[in-house]
Amino acid sequence: AQERYASIRDKPATTLCGRTLSLTMNAGLMADLPSLEGSGADGVGLFRTELQFLVRSKMPKRAELSELYARVMDAAKGRQVVFRTLDIGSDKVLPYMKPTDEPNPALGWRAIRVGLDKPGVMRMQLQALIRGAKGRPLTIMFPFVAQREEFDAGRAEMDKAMERERILGHPLPETLRLGAMLETPSLAYAPDQFYRSVDFLSIGGNDLKQFFFAADRENERVRRRYDTLNVSFLTFLQGIVERCIATDTPLSFCGEDAGRPVEAACLAAIGLRSLSMRPASIGPVKSILRRTDLDELRSVIDAAGRRGDQSVRPAVMEYLREKL
Ligand code: PEP
Ligand code: MG
Repeated sequence: AQERYASIRDKPATTLCGRTLSLTMNAGLMADLPSLEGSGADGVGLFRTELQFLVRSKMPKRAELSELYARVMDAAKGRQVVFRTLDIGSDKVLPYMKPTDEPNPALGWRAIRVGLDKPGVMRMQLQALIRGAKGRPLTIMFPFVAQREEFDAGRAEMDKAMERERILGHPLPETLRLGAMLETPSLAYAPDQFYRSVDFLSIGGNDLKQFFFAADRENERVRRRYDTLNVSFLTFLQGIVERCIATDTPLSFCGEDAGRPVEAACLAAIGLRSLSMRPASIGPVKSILRRTDLDELRSVIDAAGRRGDQSVRPAVMEYLREKL
């Protein structure tokens, strides 16, 4: 499939109406790194650091992690890599950590909640990231931030880590960008001060959709019931886009929907300009974007909303069938 899109691999994701999107890839294992070249990705929009913890039988050491993070940045050759701090809990359980017996793990003690309550591992990881950067620019985001204080506490940990590394004489990153994943509806309604305090936001569409519709992303029976192109969900996402524009907050979307061509085109039509997806999706998504007029598609989406359609998908499919 990669070969099919080889001719556009080095071309920009510029739409018919002249908007250029940034298409980045999701990664987490060393085996993903060669895809940086093959896919034509603009960088790594989501590096799931927990995968390195999940493939081991014991807690990795700081030196081992910093070495690994350095290799990821080497492979990116100056393109941005967004490292997400540990997202464990819920469906991701570490074999060497005491399991917490929770009735609803997806709504439980996970991600940044663990990181802030038991900061030892998070501190070790932040240090490993700073050391891995070796003075290069560093971009980090915290998963599953549900309220402003959690991001502030994460940033305070980062400030402390930087100070420790400075005192120890390690080079500090040339620039540091610190962002939050928007995966809970609550964060969409956080105060403007929150939006202004983050260096960027990344919508974790998998979790955000699960919590928006109250439908378990792991449960086949209910997962397919709610369309990502449901008007309520798109309206919600549009609200986030507008708040980010109003507060000058860079916004991206990671999560599986970014890698589905029709969904990706609709996300672009409602204003997303940065999408992160599995490497094999970059070709197909770029291909549809390069053949789409986002203003026209936006009119189709808006008209479906005014008509009271449940999902814009039928109208969008009809439009795309005619156009493509
Ligand atoms: C998401 O929730 O959309 C996301 C990108 O993170 P993960 O799938 O790892 O939970
Ligand atoms: Mg998530």
